[in-house]
Amino acid sequence: MKSRGLAALQANAALTTFDFNRRELGEHDVNLDIAYSGICHSDIHQVRQEWGPAIFPMVPGHEIAGTVTGIGSSVTKFAVGDLIGVGVYIDSCRTCESCKQGLQQYCESGMTGTYNSLERDGKTVAYGGYSNNFVINQDYAVHIPANLSLAGVAPLLCAGITLYSPLKKWGVKPGMKIGVMGLGGLGHMGVKFAHAMGAEVTVFSHSPDKATDALAMGADHFVVTKDISTLKPLYKTFDLILNTVSADLDINIYLDMLKLDGTLVVIGLPGVPYSVNADSLLNGRRRIAGSMIGGIPELQEMLDFCGQHSIVSDVEIISADYANTAYERTVASDVKYRFVIDATSI
Ligand code: NAP
Ligand code: ZN
Repeated sequence: MKSRGLAALQANAALTTFDFNRRELGEHDVNLDIAYSGICHSDIHQVRQEWGPAIFPMVPGHEIAGTVTGIGSSVTKFAVGDLIGVGVYIDSCRTCESCKQGLQQYCESGMTGTYNSLERDGKTVAYGGYSNNFVINQDYAVHIPANLSLAGVAPLLCAGITLYSPLKKWGVKPGMKIGVMGLGGLGHMGVKFAHAMGAEVTVFSHSPDKATDALAMGADHFVVTKDISTLKPLYKTFDLILNTVSADLDINIYLDMLKLDGTLVVIGLPGVPYSVNADSLLNGRRRIAGSMIGGIPELQEMLDFCGQHSIVSDVEIISADYANTAYERTVASDVKYRFVIDATSI
């Protein structure tokens, strides 16, 4: 199938228009026309090889919202015309313990990424969502509630699920005190979900100008992190802190803000190791955990939750020729709060 996308032809290269072929529709596949594709900071990390060697040319994009245009002969989950979402992976082994539990993101042989990855045949390069169309096995795509704006839904496919999943895993409920570090694409979804689940939400941000937005999204408190001494009164007050910061930082200060048995969940992936003070862990029996996106059943659950609570991402819709500028602005923490490419402009 002929596709047109935006690609980095080599590491660190600017995104340019790129024509390529996707596989033809298979028996269990669905074709879709992409309407919107979100720009995740993970796209930038990979184009810049901040996580190690990557596959080029790379068509990034794993926050895909569109409409089904064709279905394979055995497809029962979707019909032509349905709204459809595709997230961070397009396949997995389907047989390991993780896959059997619906936790395909933790597939023991590795999930097949939506891009910067080889499909399960070990040779077909997977090209992502900065493009006009897509083909995917029906089991790895989800339904989008019709009452939500499609542009605002696209970022839910990664940013949304990545924050929804740990909030569910750690049992967030009314009365709990939750911290969200970084008010970017992921962080702002964490604020919206934690608020909808009834928690008291504090945003930790190094961008003072985001305060009004954070409170409008449902945060109860906004803390500027530039002056560490202002954080002292918050020591030992949080049940759960979600770290969505894309850059390296001192996480010990945040560990010290956890209550007895509190958990700091690492979500941001700066590509360098964190250093941890043993004292900050021991004192309060604190934990550091990690969380990566979510499984397919939870992805659908999250979208249904968004449909019920009218939750979408705050987006800035851009055309393809703005994507390189959007990368620079994202790295500069100047995104309010997710760039979404209008795929018709590619
Ligand atoms: P983003 O939109 O760029 O947001 C990151 C936020 O981190 C920024 O808006 C900024 O918030 C804060 N920040 C950035 N640089 C900082 C610095 N030098 N010091 C302090 N704070 C800084 O990125 P994103 O798309 O939300 O992704 C965030 C991270 O999560 C990335 O590393 C990404 O690769 C990773 N990620 C992980 C998963 C997973 O499954 N675990 C999934 C997707 C993405 P303030 O302006 O409010 O300070
Ligand atoms: Zn992502």
